[in-house]
Amino acid sequence: MVIGAGHAGLAASHFLTERSIDHVVLERGEVANSWRRERWESLRLLTPNWQSRLPGLPYAGADPDGYMTAGEVVELVDRFAAVSRAPVRTGTNVTSVSGVDGGYHVTTSRGEIRCRAVVIASGACNQPAVPRISEAVPASVEQVTPLEYQSPAKLADGGVLVVGASATGVQLASEIRASGRPVTLSVGEHVRLPRTYRGRDILWWMDASGVWDQRYDEVDDLTRARRLPSPQLVGTPERGTLDLNALAAAGVELVGRWAAVRDGRALFSGGLRNVFSLADLKMERLLATFDEWARAHGHDGSPERFAPTRVPASTRLQLDLGSGEIRTVVWATGFRPDYRWLDVPVADPKGQLRHDGGAVESPGLYALGLPVLRRRKSTFIHGIEDDARDVIAHLAGYLAVRR
Ligand SMILES: Cc1cc2nc3c(=O)[nH]c(=O)nc-3n(C[C@H](O)[C@H](O)[C@H](O)COP(=O)(O)OP(=O)(O)OC[C@H]3O[C@@H](n4cnc5c(N)ncnc54)[C@H](O)[C@@H]3O)c2cc1C
Repeated sequence: MVIGAGHAGLAASHFLTERSIDHVVLERGEVANSWRRERWESLRLLTPNWQSRLPGLPYAGADPDGYMTAGEVVELVDRFAAVSRAPVRTGTNVTSVSGVDGGYHVTTSRGEIRCRAVVIASGACNQPAVPRISEAVPASVEQVTPLEYQSPAKLADGGVLVVGASATGVQLASEIRASGRPVTLSVGEHVRLPRTYRGRDILWWMDASGVWDQRYDEVDDLTRARRLPSPQLVGTPERGTLDLNALAAAGVELVGRWAAVRDGRALFSGGLRNVFSLADLKMERLLATFDEWARAHGHDGSPERFAPTRVPASTRLQLDLGSGEIRTVVWATGFRPDYRWLDVPVADPKGQLRHDGGAVESPGLYALGLPVLRRRKSTFIHGIEDDARDVIAHLAGYLAVRR
């Protein structure tokens, strides 16, 4: 039983079919449901088209260096489902999975099923991760998560406070600012990257140098790697860099991490200088890794270096949420999975599955599509092929031993 018909569940199905293992893929909505229902209007992938490859389905379009719209991702995942002839049952919500003798009992909105093994491919981004301070925000300020946000036109007129400066936060801050609204961006730990480096997409370097292939059992601090924020990247036809310098130049006001709400005022941490220099330093280190790889592999060109993130002359440490200056808060503070339907005790106190490279701590239960599941690229579209092959090989071994 595979739960979820996003690209991860369909990749599981591809390898199960390859091994002639009977299975069904249960999907509460339609194939590629997240890309149909949970993405904002302007969203494009931050990974280039040539990288949007799935098992047996390399990118074959005319624009390998472009970035797909959400609609194009739906088409891609739909095509993958058709090509791989995945046995998908759409409109089938899984409401409970529990362990029974020799396997699992699955309750769905369309009946009960017994199976020997379950692959959880229900997504890593089912819910917005909104911090508790949101509860102290005055009712006069609207609060929006990226799962609800559609476009600047749907927001109330007036100032917007975007919280979080990872991919989602910088993309939304940029487009809301471009709509003419005053935007303040609250910045915590982040991953800065240029869009292109030495004439190529930065993600080409991640791919070619093997950084993205690093395995989960080779990573020094796996817990940290799994929590790493997404890089400050956007996919646009201009291939522009969207770092904090670009946002500040566009008129976005940068403030520190939102630490608390007191007497109706948002309080931000100081120390932006340290946060910026840490991100700059990590970017420099990564670029140095690429330079080393380029030297070793005889690539032309010379290292490029980028201006440090500019620290504003003065940064506000607080903002009166009752003054009317901010009409909307956008929580770009990350996502988390939703396992409320899982009645097997395999989630940690933070709601994350306990697993070893996708083999969950309950025999016959597997997961796909989670951060650094087996490799650094695990949550990305191009990362699923290697992970799904490995996880389904493990599952096949488990079934063989049981037989
Ligand atoms: C905003 C955003 C931007 C991203 N940009 C990129 C990018 O540029 N490049 C890239 O490679 N990756 C990107 N990703 C990461 C990743 O590719 C996507 O999150 C992708 O959708 C993950 O695929 P998945 O199959 O693991 O999960 P999903 O696509 O979320 O699929 C899970 C499926 O499970 C179904 N489901 C969930 N619960 C149940 C249930 N109880 N019963 C039945 N069905 C259920 C859902 O309806 C859904 O269809 C992005 C993610 C987000 C959130």
